[in-house]
Amino acid sequence: MKEKILIIEDEEELVKGLKLNLVFEGYEVIWAMDGEEGLNKALKEAPDLILLDIMLPKKDGLDVCRELRQRNVTIPIVMLTAKGEEVDKVVGLEIGADDYITKPFSVRELMARVKAHLRRGKKEEKSVPSVYRFNDVEIDFIHFKVKRSGIEFDLTSLEVEILKYFVAHRGEVVTRDTLLDKIWGYESYPSTRTIDNHILKLRKKLEEDPAQAKYIFSVYGEGYRFMGGL
Ligand code: CA
Repeated sequence: MKEKILIIEDEEELVKGLKLNLVFEGYEVIWAMDGEEGLNKALKEAPDLILLDIMLPKKDGLDVCRELRQRNVTIPIVMLTAKGEEVDKVVGLEIGADDYITKPFSVRELMARVKAHLRRGKKEEKSVPSVYRFNDVEIDFIHFKVKRSGIEFDLTSLEVEILKYFVAHRGEVVTRDTLLDKIWGYESYPSTRTIDNHILKLRKKLEEDPAQAKYIFSVYGEGYRFMGGL
């Protein structure tokens, strides 16, 4: 599958050039031209890396970066700074950007950074925090517990594995086939019905109203999308 790069940048000419080069290198490229649209796309389209301009209409790049990190989004962010924005660079790194590159930059340099950060992103893909919190829910991966509104539920080891995968891939559609592959392994053959039963049980623990799921959404004909913390 192609890696997806989100460019949040309002200079159309720059975007065109970047897009051309990134597509040539085999990446899928999506683009937003203001901060609000960029934040939305970052949350909904699960990109693998974000190139983020600082001076943007509606919401500046620093705010976009800050909000993504506050929502536990850990994908690599490379800030695109203009000359003279030295202070912003520092702030950018402080609020959780992974890197910055100063305009005008060479395509080669940018590609090298993009590749390096994608490699890092992949390595960390499987690592989730030992405790993951959102709204009034707290998932404790070490002690196999979920707490919702102060009520504690035990998790089975299978449920822990499913939730870890969901958290690592939050916002993405996770197909039943993927769950079979990653959690059960292809040697065992649980039916898709089995998976659905486990999800039902998880919903009873995580969701206030399991019939109106807010965190573990069903994606018709595909599988599930976990939105806790997004
Ligand atoms: Ca700009």
